[in-house]
Amino acid sequence: MKLCFLLLSAVALFTGVLHAAPPNVIIIFADDLGYGDLGCYGSPVIRTPNLDRMASEGLRFTDFYSASEVCTPSRAALLTGRLPIRSGMCGNRRVLFPNSEGGLPPAEITIAEALKEKGYATMHIGKWHLGIHAGSRPLDQGFDHSFGLPYSNDMDGRPDLPKGSSGSPNPPHDGWNVALLRDGEVVEQPADQTTLTKRYTEEAVKFIREKKSSPFFLYMPHTFPHVPMFASPAFKGKSRAGIYGDAVEELDWSVGQVLDTLRQEGLAENTLVFFTSDNGPWLIMGDQGGSAGLLKDGKGSTWEGGMRVPGIAWMPGRIKPGVTTQLASTMDLLPTALALAKAPAPKDVTLDGTDLAPLLFESKPLPARPYFYYRGDQLFACRLGDWKAHFQTQTGYGQPKAEAHEPPLLFHLGRDPSEKRNVAANHADVLARIQEAVKQHQAGVVPGVPQLK
Ligand code: MG
Repeated sequence: MKLCFLLLSAVALFTGVLHAAPPNVIIIFADDLGYGDLGCYGSPVIRTPNLDRMASEGLRFTDFYSASEVCTPSRAALLTGRLPIRSGMCGNRRVLFPNSEGGLPPAEITIAEALKEKGYATMHIGKWHLGIHAGSRPLDQGFDHSFGLPYSNDMDGRPDLPKGSSGSPNPPHDGWNVALLRDGEVVEQPADQTTLTKRYTEEAVKFIREKKSSPFFLYMPHTFPHVPMFASPAFKGKSRAGIYGDAVEELDWSVGQVLDTLRQEGLAENTLVFFTSDNGPWLIMGDQGGSAGLLKDGKGSTWEGGMRVPGIAWMPGRIKPGVTTQLASTMDLLPTALALAKAPAPKDVTLDGTDLAPLLFESKPLPARPYFYYRGDQLFACRLGDWKAHFQTQTGYGQPKAEAHEPPLLFHLGRDPSEKRNVAANHADVLARIQEAVKQHQAGVVPGVPQLK
């Protein structure tokens, strides 16, 4: 009897120790993937069985936002939990270019830096696009290791590259001189883009296997489906949606490899995996531009299609499978990751995100909060509940100047998710509440030193 009790106690203690192991965190960030591009978000043409399974085993968000409508600011916001206006990672030039002098300021605290303090192994695999100068690079921002491209795959084009090549269905594989870097050193230039997704995936699997006994943070911002579009031979020509669909189906395969590795290593129940995209689809790229589904416009715009993106959280046994209509954003991932790791919030830093744990693990609603849509350093729109007011509008690309709206345009995203019917005239009270929320928000924003000059 006594022995039995002791044995049970030992088992309980051991289980307790296992449960006490800090959870691992993996963020998989697609580039320019639209709201309508996955099977589990209604795509009838792109096959994404692994992401569909991830969604059915996890929590799929209907109202998940990237913090920006373009690449660089959205990445800065995800890693810092802050609106890009606060870090200075936004502006008229929209993103960082190879000749930009700025980058993510060293003083900004990233998820990697905060988790590293708690003993996490940290790795970045994929596109960085937060600066190439000292202080802003992956190894300067909390990552032990890094493997991938310093910026977008359409930058640094060969001088003789014909115009429009990046949007081609069959782009030249050596058309761009962007380098593949490992820990800041060039390992291949130009990077062979046809096998990038495959090689990122192999690196991720290797990292997970090597670090399985210590807590780890893997940040995996994929290069695709950003143009120029490439897929490895196993996927090229296989989808119904052309090379864009091929690239997305290869990404889906990659997600499957990551989740399978976690299952094989017994890490699935103790690893939060979050999949999302940095902004909406780049619609001006035509067939190479993806789909925002029923949402209006795409990348570059503060219409829903520019910023509302797929969002899937997975942690089997911890996250109850389902679909949520709660509003959340990439800026919530830092507070969520830090809470999981029991890491303190960064001191004297204004965060714009909130810890998603109550929603993920207890199915509790999140606190109601307004959501702010910026284009560069300008606030264009605000959402409160299901209401969204636009103070300015501008298509993602091709409209040189923003159009100001006074009174603002008002849409109800529940009854009109496609933002077709402006109902401002009937809801002056709603507009007044939104305007008050904007006033309070703007009073608390101290813009950072502009980095995207
Ligand atoms: Mg992007």
